[in-house]
Amino acid sequence: MNSASRRSSIADNVRTVLDGLPDGVELVAAAKTRSPEEIKEAVAAGVRIIGENYVQEAEEAKACIGGVRWHFIGHLQKNKVKKAVQLFDMIETVDSIGLAEEISKRCVQLAKEMSVLIEVNSGKEEQKFGVFPGDVPELVRKISCFPGVKIMGIMTMGPFSNDPEVSRPYFKCARRVFEEISASSVPGVEMKLLSMGMTNSYRVAIEEGANLVRIGTKIFGERDHGGN
Ligand SMILES: *Cc1c(COP(=O)(O)O)cnc(C)c1O
Repeated sequence: MNSASRRSSIADNVRTVLDGLPDGVELVAAAKTRSPEEIKEAVAAGVRIIGENYVQEAEEAKACIGGVRWHFIGHLQKNKVKKAVQLFDMIETVDSIGLAEEISKRCVQLAKEMSVLIEVNSGKEEQKFGVFPGDVPELVRKISCFPGVKIMGIMTMGPFSNDPEVSRPYFKCARRVFEEISASSVPGVEMKLLSMGMTNSYRVAIEEGANLVRIGTKIFGERDHGGN
């Protein structure tokens, strides 16, 4: 593909995705491995939230792109938290007390409040990040007491499959966790966001209640190195 057709197609892709989203569902453009120029093109076409998996990439992109919100959607290492809380408006992948504690500590130092989602390992896959569904209520109760951290919802990936129907039960599971936490009305916790669904699965995710979808490939094309 030459660069001209690639450039015009990012804008077209964004418009196609946005036109197809129901009211109340927001798009996170998953931008890992993409250049600031590619991200800019997506923003010009209407993207309002950028999702980044890597702190370093976000820092470079943020230096050239304004007027959007930045969500961290990768696995956050503790030694990157200090930088991350300066760069991001939301961290979607909180899955441990230790990580939440570090975010809290750094945010208190900056007099900032970080919105976070709890990442649920809805497929209970040993090798995946995220907290098992049954452990979410206790984690939420503990984190809700930390200053500088505000729980806003649930995020899940689910086991990857080319068939979106394979994802449905995992999205249902994350939805149940979301409803359970909402119903328990933990003080300080505002359950508003259910982040699930990627390029191949976001339509199913929306059917199952997602109101935040994270889409990379459908916007930017196939990744050269797969990303993660
Ligand atoms: C890469 C990524 C996505 C987007 O995946 P696509 O299949 O390219 O749409 C969504 N969520 C997370 C956490 C990702 O790392």
